Amino acid sequence: MSADRGVDDSATGDDPAQRTGGHRPHDHGHPLGLPVAVDIYDTTLRDGSQQEGMSLTVDDKLRVAEQLDHLGVAYVEGGWPGANPKDGEFFARAEKELKLSSATLVAFGSTRRPNAGAASDETLRHLVAAGTEAVCIVAKSSDLHVTEALRTTLDEAVAMAADSVRHLRSAGLRVFFDAEHFFDGYRRDPEFALRVIATAEEAGAETLVLCDTNGGTLPDEVEEVVSQVRRRTSAAIGAHFHNDSGCAVANTLAAVRQGATQVQGCVNGYGERTGNADLSAAIANLTLKMGVRTIPADRLERLTPVAHHIAELVNLTLEPQRPYVGSAAFAHKAGLHTSALARRSDAYEHVVPDSVGNGTRFVVSELAGRSTLQFKAAELGLDLDSPALGRVLDTLKELEHAGYHFEVADGSLELLMRAAAGGRTAELANLFRIESFRVITDWRATGRAVAVEAGRRNATQLVHPWSSPGELTTEATVKVHVGDERVVATAEGNGPVNALDSALRQAIEPHFQALRNVHLTDYRVRVLDTAKGTGAVTRVLLDTADAEGSWSTIGVSENIIEASWQALVDSVVYGLARAAQRATTIEGRS
Ligand SMILES: [Zn+2]
Repeated sequence: MSADRGVDDSATGDDPAQRTGGHRPHDHGHPLGLPVAVDIYDTTLRDGSQQEGMSLTVDDKLRVAEQLDHLGVAYVEGGWPGANPKDGEFFARAEKELKLSSATLVAFGSTRRPNAGAASDETLRHLVAAGTEAVCIVAKSSDLHVTEALRTTLDEAVAMAADSVRHLRSAGLRVFFDAEHFFDGYRRDPEFALRVIATAEEAGAETLVLCDTNGGTLPDEVEEVVSQVRRRTSAAIGAHFHNDSGCAVANTLAAVRQGATQVQGCVNGYGERTGNADLSAAIANLTLKMGVRTIPADRLERLTPVAHHIAELVNLTLEPQRPYVGSAAFAHKAGLHTSALARRSDAYEHVVPDSVGNGTRFVVSELAGRSTLQFKAAELGLDLDSPALGRVLDTLKELEHAGYHFEVADGSLELLMRAAAGGRTAELANLFRIESFRVITDWRATGRAVAVEAGRRNATQLVHPWSSPGELTTEATVKVHVGDERVVATAEGNGPVNALDSALRQAIEPHFQALRNVHLTDYRVRVLDTAKGTGAVTRVLLDTADAEGSWSTIGVSENIIEASWQALVDSVVYGLARAAQRATTIEGRS
């Protein structure tokens, strides 16, 4: 690790970097001095994976670790070895398969159990066996949690911390010390909270991580508590915040202002309940606004691609509104904004989107005027003359009146504009022609109508107890012409859209290899104009992704299958257009 991570070079004579194996903690002689640099510590693979709906395989975890290393974080917390077989396997495979260029892998665990020795403790044994250079252990620093949750004495809690740190240090490991419920504990009994971390420091912990485990602390209190801690310790201070009061990033920045030099959190703010501190926002704020070094400066532009790549790996759609990295983070809709932006790019943007690898986007809808459409065309590199622009605007208005909503369907909008501009996309759309599609959903009873005991009923039967057990199958047939060839393909699926998607792919994928990397990520249906009852119109939005990014397409019809089909074909054509464009760019470069 670089020796210059830490604070102002006006550090005291005692060189803490030597004591902590290269890590230079903050200079506690400057209560208001901002650190020059902080170490970014990502816990997506441990704390972040507690998020509802997130389930990672060992392979997923290895890929996420590689992405974090590519971004340039200092530490990747890999999991809790011994807590479950998956994390054990992760560390075993990481040792052989994971080639991290700059990040240090960290194994997580807890202090020894109460009233037992450290040497014989299972958790500590697993931590040592994980084979990492650094470990992070969690310890109770709130008296309430010691007496109520752990059911032991405060003295024993302190001894647990000391013994565990000493044991791990004697095994040659760097030790980070997570003080759980630190802020809540400090509020109740500051003496005990401080005693726990002082003991850990004495025993050789290199970083004292102050955790806001319940996530309810506010920034002003964080500043106060961290500054108090800073006065009492010469170890590095770490910050670990949860977002329950919506302040995790603000709290992180507040802690850094008071000298914290290790910033824990998760890219995209993953985590239990409302999540951990969003490292994407923390990194960008610290780097761009506070002048604190985080990841290597030339890697800041990897922030958005990495955030999206990790979202893909953990299979959770990245919210468009995520600060800095979301697809809407620099999207502009109002006509006034867009014309002002054309003159001054900083008029409605707090930072240059390119600096974090994101980009300005103009959202086009019927509300937006001609100028927005013009910027959108320029953004896409399309040469639309005034009459063509007028035609696109008229078409948009007509379609939006019919129920289309283009501001959420960038893929379909782009196809529409490219078609109006003529050229390659229009040709591409002609590469295959659809003759027909058909989808059949078939349900049949597999047994008699029964009053089975509750435990054996499936979900459908619990809601509809009169229904008998049955089997549902869906099958789709698609007939298309590719060039001179007529292809008929049939596929099954777990629903009509899935079956149609599979059949269409089966028919055309042999001709368009690029489709292999394109897959559907989300499907949303909305019924419009419900006043008309069965005559209501259905709007379908499909999200599709390839390795480089994602796009949305739209279909509108009185028939939900037809609306889905429109969105599906658009998503495929758009995916092919992207792949074709990429191929041209790459050829152009070589
Ligand atoms: Zn946590």
